[in-house]
Amino acid sequence: MIICPICDSQSNSEKIYKPRGTLVDMEVFMCHECSHIFSTKKSKASKPTSDNIQAKIQKISCDADYTEVRVGKQQMTDKDFDRLVNYSIKNPDFVIKDVLDTCSARGHFIEKVKNYWGDDVNIDAIEPDPYMAVKYVDSDNFKVFIGELENYEIKKKFDVVYSCHSLEHYKNPIKVFSFASKVINKNGLFIINVPNIMTLDTYQGFDEYFYDYHLQYFCPNTLTLLSQKMGFMAEEIYESGSDLVIFFRKRTVLDYNNNKRKTKNLHLIKNGVTQRDCNIKNEQYYLDKYCLSEKSYLFSVGRFTEEKDLVTMINGYLFSKLKVKLVIAGDGDTEYSSKVKKLAASKNIILTGYIFGDELQSLFSNAKIFLLSSTHEVAAPITVLEAMSYNLSILLSDIDVNQILPLENSSYFSAGDYKDFSKSLLWLFNNEHDNYNNVSYLEENHNWDSIANETHALYKTIIAYRNEFNTPKPLTTF
Ligand SMILES: [Zn+2]
Repeated sequence: MIICPICDSQSNSEKIYKPRGTLVDMEVFMCHECSHIFSTKKSKASKPTSDNIQAKIQKISCDADYTEVRVGKQQMTDKDFDRLVNYSIKNPDFVIKDVLDTCSARGHFIEKVKNYWGDDVNIDAIEPDPYMAVKYVDSDNFKVFIGELENYEIKKKFDVVYSCHSLEHYKNPIKVFSFASKVINKNGLFIINVPNIMTLDTYQGFDEYFYDYHLQYFCPNTLTLLSQKMGFMAEEIYESGSDLVIFFRKRTVLDYNNNKRKTKNLHLIKNGVTQRDCNIKNEQYYLDKYCLSEKSYLFSVGRFTEEKDLVTMINGYLFSKLKVKLVIAGDGDTEYSSKVKKLAASKNIILTGYIFGDELQSLFSNAKIFLLSSTHEVAAPITVLEAMSYNLSILLSDIDVNQILPLENSSYFSAGDYKDFSKSLLWLFNNEHDNYNNVSYLEENHNWDSIANETHALYKTIIAYRNEFNTPKPLTTF
C-alpha cells in the first residue's frame, strides 16, 4: 500500500514516473488528496565497494551524482544567511543566541553566522559525514555532532534551526518537523531550503530531481501543508532558482489570543466539550475487561505518533516505579508506533487500541490521573478538555498551547523530559486535588449552546455580507 507521507491518505496516490537508471527500483507517486509528490524504493542501493575517488564523492553527496540542482550548497547557504540577517534586522525583538544547523555539510552557513554574530551566538552543527565536517569538527567555535539527526541528543533549545537540502532525503519528513518542534524555542525560526519542484519545467531537469536519493519533492503548497500539520506556520517564503526556502515559526493558539497576525476576517469559535453524564452504560464491564478498578490507574488517549511523545510518557512512568497501571487508548501503524508498543511491553501497561463511546467514557471517568505528553503546539488538546470534564487530575507537557488551560503549576512537566514527567507524576499521585474549577471553566469556555449561538451569528453575518455585496465574505479559519 502506498501511503502519502504528508496527508497519510492510503491508496490514493498515482504512479507518475520511474526515474531513468534507478538502482533501487524507485517509483515516483503523486497524492490525489494533497498533491504531494514522493518516491518509494523497492530495493536498497548497494554501497560503493571500491576505494576509488568517484565512489567516495558519491558517498559524501548522499551517494548521488552532482547535478545542477545539488551543486553549490555554499551559494544556497550564503543566500539563506543573508535572508536570516534581513529577518533579524526587520524583527529587532528576535534575538539570536543559539543556532543549530541540522546538516552543516562543509560548514559554510555556520561560519557565516559565527563571523557575523561572533561570540553572541552559540552554534551547534549536525553532519552525518565526518569527511564533510573535517574542516570545522575540532573548532572551538562550534559544537559538532557527527551522526544522523535522529541520534542527536537534545540538550537545549535553539532560536534558529536550519535545514538545507536535507528534508527531501527523508522517507518520513514528519520526523524532521517533529525533531524541530522539540529543539526550537517557542519564538524560534525553522528555516528549510529544499529543491522546488515548481521549477521543474524541462524534461532534461527530471533526473536532477527524480534520482535515487530524493524521496520528497516539495512545492510551497505541500511544504506549507506539511508544516501546518506539524504545528508550524510559514513566515516568509522565497523561491529563487531551483530552491524553495521557507522561514517557519511554531504556530500556537496564542497567536490568536495575542491578536498577532489578526485579520479582520479571522473568527475563532472554540471547540465544545460535552457535560458528563454520570450513568455510563456497562461501566463495570469495561473496567473488568482490563482488570481495572476506580481511581486505580493512569490514563491517556491519542494516536501513536511522534508528536504525542508517548516515549517520554512511558519512560517517565517506568522511571516513577508506580505500581498502578498505565492505560493508553489509541494506536498507530508506523515505525514510531512499533517503538511505542515495544516500550509498552510491561505487564502494568495496557494498550487498548482505538476505543470509543461507552468504553472510552468508562476508562476516562474512572482514571486517577490523565496524561498528555505531546510536544507540538497545534491547538488546545480536546482530550485534555475531556479529561477536565471528568474532574480528573491532569499531567501534561508545558508547551504554550497546554499552558493556556487554567490548571495548577503542578499539572505541568517539562516537555520531552521523562525524569521531570516522573517527578511531577509522583507528586500528583501523592497529593489529592480538587478539580471542580475545571468543570466551571469548561461551562464558560467550551459550552455547546454558546458555540451554536456563535456559529449561528457568524452564518448570519456571512449571509448578510453576501446579500449586500453579492460576493462571499472572505473568512480565515484558525
Ligand atoms: Zn497526500
